[in-house]
This record gives sequence, structure tokens and C-alpha cells, in this order.
Amino acid sequence: MSHAAACAALADELPALAWTRDDAQLTRLSQDFSWFSPVLKRQLEGKRGDIAVRPRNEDEIRAVVAACARRRVPVTVRGSGTGNYGQIVPVQGGLILDLSGFNAFGWARGGAGRAQAGIRLGDFDRAAQPLGWELRWLPSTFRAASLGGLFGGGFGGAGSVTYGPIAAAGNVLGARVMSVEPEPQVAELRGAEALLVHHRWGTNGIVLELEVALAPALPWVEMIATFEALPAAIDFCMTLHGATPGIVRKELALMCAPIPEYFVTLAEHLPQGRHAVLMLVAETSEGATRELAGAHGGDITYRKDAAEVKRLNRTLVEYCWNHTTLQALKVDRNLTYLQARFDPLRQKEQVLALHDKLSPEVMLHLEYIRLTDGRYTCSSLPVVRFSTEERLAELGQVFEEHGVVINNAHTHVLEDGGKLRDMDRSALSAAQRMAAEAAVAMKQRFDPAGLLNPGKLRSWHGPG
Ligand SMILES: Cc1cc2nc3c(=O)[nH]c(=O)nc-3n(C[C@H](O)[C@H](O)[C@H](O)COP(=O)(O)OP(=O)(O)OC[C@H]3O[C@@H](n4cnc5c(N)ncnc54)[C@H](O)[C@@H]3O)c2cc1C
Repeated sequence: MSHAAACAALADELPALAWTRDDAQLTRLSQDFSWFSPVLKRQLEGKRGDIAVRPRNEDEIRAVVAACARRRVPVTVRGSGTGNYGQIVPVQGGLILDLSGFNAFGWARGGAGRAQAGIRLGDFDRAAQPLGWELRWLPSTFRAASLGGLFGGGFGGAGSVTYGPIAAAGNVLGARVMSVEPEPQVAELRGAEALLVHHRWGTNGIVLELEVALAPALPWVEMIATFEALPAAIDFCMTLHGATPGIVRKELALMCAPIPEYFVTLAEHLPQGRHAVLMLVAETSEGATRELAGAHGGDITYRKDAAEVKRLNRTLVEYCWNHTTLQALKVDRNLTYLQARFDPLRQKEQVLALHDKLSPEVMLHLEYIRLTDGRYTCSSLPVVRFSTEERLAELGQVFEEHGVVINNAHTHVLEDGGKLRDMDRSALSAAQRMAAEAAVAMKQRFDPAGLLNPGKLRSWHGPG
């Protein structure tokens, strides 16, 4: 039986569920933001699920998952579809399991919180903040993106400047995960075991609930400092990031000129030709941050306190991370981006060398973060003037020649993205081999028939 026929039978078997069969809706639900990449846009064109379902509770999820396992229907889990790599594009068709309706907030207390996977991150914070807590990482897509989707496909966001990525030990406390089997199993994974399902693009388990460590909720002041000279802007960021432990910060991003010119709605705060640092610091840290900016020759050109941010419903977070690329794309559709990570010890030298060599074809946008091992560095989502796919690959090589790590943003195969290595490659470090084997073992445990998001995890070769 074809997937399409099997999907039609699913809906007949479970008529009480909320099914979508409409062509236009299915096309929409089969897409994410992979169109940022001209490569993925070409590769994923026309790929679509055969049917979608939006369960409202765990019983409905279990019923539909069991039916898929019996009928061998591929299942692609969808949060809000804001991923960048075609992670929710069902490349082999089948069912789209839309978890946006499975979105209840659970609790927040004592520095931890729990919710169902489909909750939007903005909604999580709105529920947790009155209790004194907020998420440790807020991707710039926080208004739409779900907790399960961030865990399944994301990295981190505002907050990673302090707490590192989601993958840093201690950030994720537990995950309740369902298997895809005729009799679905549900297990609570804790700590390091839960992280084996993180950033696996919904290939090795359906996450039902997440328990995460939280940060104290604070009123954040949003500021922009602009700089004439790039070295001074970098020195300011590196000092604010790694050498002023008394300043409490949530976001620190450096937009090398000419990127600020794309921020049309902030134009009055961004003098032409200057580099701009966008930051969120605790209200109590504003004075020290201003002094530090002044000492580095920076001018504060924008300042909003937490109350104004709330009233205006506009935050600088939506100019950072991959929203930088989105803001630029609103002005020029012929742009794309790369994903790079600088060496903690050579970051300044690397940034200056690449800026000198490649600007304005490549416009550097730096996000200051901590790595999983606690070191301070910056990552980058450079905005790139696209010419050809070959040139895009060449630009990545130039970064690598400067000692900068490139994670390929232009692939829908997990292992080619750089966060998980191919198990079949010989030159793996022990840690890389263990991570790859663990991902496959999780797949065997939670998806023994290989129905979850097929076509994305190359290291898994089929039922063992
Ligand atoms: C403009 C823009 C800015 C962005 N900024 C950031 C950023 O700051 N930080 C960042 O990390 N990312 C960022 N992203 C990427 C993306 O928005 C985030 O990773 C987001 O959290 C994904 O959430 P989602 O609900 O949209 O996930 P989806 O796109 O729906 O899913 C992402 C992946 O997770 C899987 N998945 C979803 N739910 C589950 C579940 N319950 N169980 C198992 N697997 C699941 C899906 O199958 C898919 O593979 C950005 C993207 C865009 C377009």
C-alpha cells in the first residue's frame, strides 16, 4: 500500500482526531525556513507530507503513533516549523504529527520548569516569569517556536551568552519520550540520557514533555552601542562577555558594518558605516555597561527598559541570531548565510582577518556564547551575498582555512550539518564515535522500524 493510501486509512481508523488533508495546508505544514538556503530550497522543492494530524492529548498521540507503526507510515514531528534545515520537511511523505496543540505549561519552581513539548517558548516565559523564573535560552523565534522544536532542532539563543547551548550539561533535566511501535512505550529520560534525543531532528523519539533548568526572571535593559572601529567593538564585546563577571547579560551580538544598514526599523539608531553591538543586560548592570562602552569609544544610540520593551512589543532579540539574516532578507532576497564558530583563543584575529578578506560579500554577525565546556567565544551567522552554490562552499573553506569551524547550514542530512558525525567514517574521535553510536542506539530503542523522519539520519541503516 502507498503511504498516501495508508494515511487515508489512518484517518478512517481514528475519525475523532483533527486531520488535515487540504493541499494548501499540507504544503504549508511541510515547510520550514529552509528557504534561507538556496541549496535546500532546490533540494526540498515539492516534498510534502500525505496527511497531518494535530493531537490534543497524550492518548491521541499514542493512538495515531500506534496506527502509524502498524501501517508502516513515516512520521515527521512538527513543532512550529521555524527550523532552518528542512528538519520538518517530510522527504519521504507520510504523516505530519503537529504537536502545536499539545502545549500545556506544567510548573516552574526552584530553578526548574516543565511543560508539554508543543508550548511556544514565549508562552512558557509568560507563565514562568510571574513565578520568578524564565528560560535560559530564548531563540529569536521565541514567539512561534515550540519547546520540543527547540530541543529537537535548535541550539540556544539569548541566554547562551551565560548558560551556553541547550546541550551544556545541567540545562536540560529530563524528557518524557514516546516510541513509535504498535504498542508505544513512554520513558522519562534524565540528564545526559535526555540529551541523546536533543538536536536529532525528531529521528530518535517523540518528545512529549521537557523539564529544563531556568534562570531567575529579571527586568532586562535593551541597548545598542555603535563603534567606529571594529577592533574596539570586538574588545568591548570580549570584555563584556568574558572579563566583567559582575555584569549580568542575556544577549550580546556584534553586527559588523554594513549589516546594520539592513535594520530598516532601527535606522535612526544606527549611524551609517558604524559597527553595532546589540545587548540585553540586567537593569542593575546598565551603568557598568555604559562605562565599559564609553571606555572603548562606543556610543549608546538606543536604550529601552523592560517596561518599554513590553509596551512596544519589540525586542532587539528579533534582530539577533538568525533574525539578523531574516531582517537582511526582507531588504534583499539574494542573501543567504553560513554558520561558523570561532576559536576562543583566536577569535579577534580570526574575525578581523575574515572581515578584511571577505566583506562585503560576507558580512559578519557575531553571537557571543559559552561553549558546552564553559569557554567564552563567538559564533557567527554571517550574511552572505549569494552567487553560486560552488562559491558558497568555497567561502566555507576560507573560514576553515582561518581555523574557524563551519557547521553546514545547507543540508537536510543530520550528519552533514556537523553536530553529529557519520558513524561509518574512520577518522572519528572517541567522543564523536560515542555520540554517533548513542544516536543510533536511541533510534533503535524508540524507533525500531525507522519511521521517524526518514532520510535525515544517515548512520542508521534500518531495523537491526
Ligand atoms: C529567523 C530565524 C531565527 C532563528 N533563531 C534561532 C535561535 O536564536 N536559536 C536557535 O537555536 N534556533 C534558531 N532558529 C531555528 C528554529 O527557530 C529554532 O530551533 C526553533 O526553536 C525550532 O522550534 P520549532 O517549534 O519551530 O521546531 P520545528 O521546526 O517544528 O522542529 C525542529 C525539529 O525538531 C523536531 N521536533 C519538533 N518537536 C519535536 C518533539 N516534540 N519531539 C521530537 N522532535 C521534535 C522536528 O521533527 C524537527 O526536526 C531560527 C530560525 C529562524 C527562521
